[in-house]
Amino acid sequence: MTRKVLVFAEVKDQQLRNVSFEAIAAGKTVAEGGEVVVALLGQGVDGLSESLFQYGADRVVVVNHELLAQYTTDAYTQAALATIEAEQPEGIVIGHTSIGKDVSPRLAARLQSGLISDVTAIELAGGNVVCTRPIYSGKAFEKKIVTDGKLFVSIRPNNVPALELDTSRSGQAEVLSVEITNLRTIIKEVVRKATDGVDLSEAKVVIAGGRGVKSEDGFAPLKELADVLNGAVGASRGACDAEYCDYSLQIGQTGKVITPDLYIACGISGAIQHLAGMSNSKVIVAINKDPEANIFKVADYGIVGDLFEVIPLLTEEFKKLKV
Ligand code: FAD
Repeated sequence: MTRKVLVFAEVKDQQLRNVSFEAIAAGKTVAEGGEVVVALLGQGVDGLSESLFQYGADRVVVVNHELLAQYTTDAYTQAALATIEAEQPEGIVIGHTSIGKDVSPRLAARLQSGLISDVTAIELAGGNVVCTRPIYSGKAFEKKIVTDGKLFVSIRPNNVPALELDTSRSGQAEVLSVEITNLRTIIKEVVRKATDGVDLSEAKVVIAGGRGVKSEDGFAPLKELADVLNGAVGASRGACDAEYCDYSLQIGQTGKVITPDLYIACGISGAIQHLAGMSNSKVIVAINKDPEANIFKVADYGIVGDLFEVIPLLTEEFKKLKV
């Protein structure tokens, strides 16, 4: 059946996050030929609509409000509900990001709809939309087949491929005014951790260090390799607990869940809680001096050796490829 689908784009530092384009692609599948409307919520975000059209949006609705300059649950929920009210979509797609995880259950509760969360693949089969999502911390996958009309899904970043950029597409964004009231939280100041380089949640290449890295300084070779590969540095909880790095780098069940094209685990044993955050990576390389380490069971390529010898060699070789 044809559906009108509302896709929520996500903005960080006045830039669209890639998951917005992936959500449009998912929205196209859900729409089954129907209209895909993208909602852009924020402040001063009007100028971002062009690439949404180029990635497949049929219409773009912009909600500009000073109280949306920084994400807060109350403000975003109100603005999103007002957009849903105005558009009356039969399907909703949002990224399964920190924002999506916070807002989507609230929206579903208020709309009295179901929610299929953390979807890693979405397709049409037998006339129905079929959503694949991991269960049991990524040890198994389930397929949800949607047989009735309405559909609300959140998609995991880096899993549903975005459509090809089509620069011939364009459009005029529409503006929707919303009222935002009764906020229970206000943001007075945003204090950023000094992180440079690529965003871990959206990185195509992640070099992760574990307790085997042995110290804060031990992360230096990993950082160098990440720079050469235009990737991000991540960590196991072991490394975070040992204070070798910040918890914002933690990958796993209680950290970030990521799906890069290439994941290189360095000095990480491969505990189940760590695997929950990275086992769906497209290619996994493990470097560990213990040949029995559990990480090798999920690795596509395993290197048994000392990470402080192996990583500089890899970095040198990748540097040569770049020249
Ligand atoms: P270790 O298990 O100590 O492994 C270190 C590895 O480094 C070893 O395999 C060793 O052979 C190797 N090594 C040492 N020196 C070198 C060297 N020079 N070269 C190469 N290899 C070397 N963990 C997470 O990661 N993420 C989570 O989200 C998470 N959530 C958790 C939630 C709960 C409720 C619990 C109970 C635990 C959680 N954990 C999580 C912790 C998890 O169980 C493990 O303790 C942790 O992942 C171990 O980190 P590690 O692999 O770095 O350390």
